[in-house]
Order: sequence, then structure tokens, then C-alpha cells
Amino acid sequence: MATVGVDLGGTKILVASVHHGKVEDSAKVPTPTGGPESVVEAIAELVEKVGGAKEVGIGAPGQVHHKTGVVVAAPNLVGWGREVPLGPLVAEALGGSVEVRVDNDVNVAVLGEHHHGAAKEADDVLGAWVGTGVGGGLILGGKLGRGRTGMAGELGHMTVVAAGGRRCGCGQFGHIEAYAGRGSLEAEARRRAEEGAQTALVELAGDERMKSSVFAKALDRGDQLTGELIDDAVVALGAGLASAVNLVDVGLIVIGGGLGDKLGPAFVGRVEEAVRSRLWAGSTVRVVPSELGDDAGVVGAAALFD
Ligand SMILES: [Zn+2]
Repeated sequence: MATVGVDLGGTKILVASVHHGKVEDSAKVPTPTGGPESVVEAIAELVEKVGGAKEVGIGAPGQVHHKTGVVVAAPNLVGWGREVPLGPLVAEALGGSVEVRVDNDVNVAVLGEHHHGAAKEADDVLGAWVGTGVGGGLILGGKLGRGRTGMAGELGHMTVVAAGGRRCGCGQFGHIEAYAGRGSLEAEARRRAEEGAQTALVELAGDERMKSSVFAKALDRGDQLTGELIDDAVVALGAGLASAVNLVDVGLIVIGGGLGDKLGPAFVGRVEEAVRSRLWAGSTVRVVPSELGDDAGVVGAAALFD
């Protein structure tokens, strides 16, 4: 039986049987909102649907203790206001003879890129996942760097505006996520629209969530407000990632996540320029787009068993 990767997200659960980094069969459902038990049940059903498993790797949003499979905190999952032993619960639901490993969702996505995607040739890699929020993962010396509590590489909450910065979803000010996360961009766009700014973003999204594709479309149309917001996002990412490079000396940065993927290579190229302009002359740090795209989560989760 196969190795199965699980991408547990705030809105959907994607499960896939993975062989040598390739998705063979996959299935997904909207993430149940009935708390941990309902999520465990959904994962077990999806694993059976893709043919069962000998090993199951799970990428979960939030803080994860990878040695025990315990999700310590997951603010994006409804009803997860306590520690959840996700690994042991999924193993039990699958009959007890299945080995289950759990890690942070962006950690596993970056691991996937390292083993099977854009970062195959590099031993020292920083991944920046630009989605609703901004997550990160770090590979040092060919291995995932998790840090003391599993939160190493979480670059979204690095401060890039030291005073008077925009408010971040976490309650602090001036963080990268406040300038580059899709959720923050939407909040800022709606705030400015209410103040009278004209923007295609509100026209395209209406009252619905302002999806990543909406930002990509508005940017293509030459919408001025979108241009300004993305300019600010590029500056924030450039400053934060350059600081990170100075700290940990990686040679490669991979940009993924919903918004990163939708804005594509043009955006990634601008971030590369912004990073290099803040490093010493002659820096050879490369910034590249994710290769695995939507599959990074499941391929990476399975890669916990590579
Ligand atoms: Zn923050």
C-alpha cells in the first residue's frame, strides 16, 4: 500500500496517494467545522477513498509538535481551541497499524519543493508561502529546521515597518503578513474603497471573498489601487526576505501559496529584485516560484516518509 499525503487546510482537506513525489490518486472535501473528531473522520474516509495507506503524512496549519503528532494551536481550524493529538487519532481511526506523521503545513510544502520541486538542487532553502496569511519554512543543511517549538521559518510575522506599520492579523503592527497576506490586502482594499477609492477589486469580488485570482485580474487590468497594494507587498517581502537571508544564509527562496501562485513569475521576479537590492552587491540569491503548486501540501506531507 501507498504513502498518502494529507493537506489539512482551513477551507479544504486534500488527500492523495503519492509515489516518488507524483500524485497518483486524490480526493478532497470542505474542512468539517464540527471540531477535531469530525476532521479525523473525514481524513480517514479520504484515505480509504484513495486506496488506503501504510504511511500517512499530514500537513496541518498552525503550531505542530512533530515528534508526537500533536497540533498545539491551529487558529484557522474551527473548534480547535485546545491541543489535539492529531497523529495518534488518525492512526486509531485507520485501524492502528498505519504510521502517521504530522508537521506544519508550510514546513511540509517546502519539504515537498526540496525533495521533488523547485528546490531539489539546494541544501539551504527558505520557502515563503503567500496565501491568506504568509507562512514560511526553512531547510538548512538539507533538513527541515523546525526550531525549539516548531515555529522556525515563520516569516509572516517578521517586522518590516518598525514604527507606524499596518496592523497584522495577529494584533501586532508592521509585519510582512500585514502587507503581503491576501486577507490583509483585502481588508486594506475594502478600507480604501470605503474612503472613496475606485478599484476593480471590489467590482470583481462584490461581497464575496476577494480571491487571489481577483488580485491577479485587477493587476492585469492596470488597476491603480491593486498596483499600489502589490508594490507595498513586494517591498515588505523584499525587506523581510533579505533580512532572513542575512540571518541564515540561504541561496534559494521559493515563493508559493495561493496568491504567490496566482500572481506568478512576474511577481516572483519583482520580489527577487527587491531582495537583491537589499543585499550586498553581487549576491547570487535566487527567488523562484513553487513548482508543485496546489500539490505542494500533499506531496510534501508524503515526503515526511522519504
Ligand atoms: Zn503578525
